[in-house]
Amino acid sequence: MLFGKLSQNEAVVEKVEFAPNRLQSTVRFEVAPEKVAAAITEAEKEGLDFIGLFHSHPAPAAPSSIDVKYMKLWGDALWLILSSTDGNLTAHQLMDDTVKEATLRIE
Ligand SMILES: [Zn+2]
Repeated sequence: MLFGKLSQNEAVVEKVEFAPNRLQSTVRFEVAPEKVAAAITEAEKEGLDFIGLFHSHPAPAAPSSIDVKYMKLWGDALWLILSSTDGNLTAHQLMDDTVKEATLRIE
């Protein structure tokens, strides 16, 4: 999970909170809701916004159909996806029911 500062057109990640994949799968992931809630509560105490989620794919770094399904539940969260096959890292966001790629800047 990614936390930091959100402004109108920019999300700056300041904190990364890792969570175990309770599916223990290499192709699907699921995080225990209590872990998500605890991480969000902790970040809010630190004055940080929830920015989005990071995960990897053994495939291209584009949201899968399952990702898109869950993107609809996470509102405007950014989804960072790393391809373990070609090393590409992308960020996507659901806007007006359409998946759009965001520009990533790594400093
Ligand atoms: Zn995915």
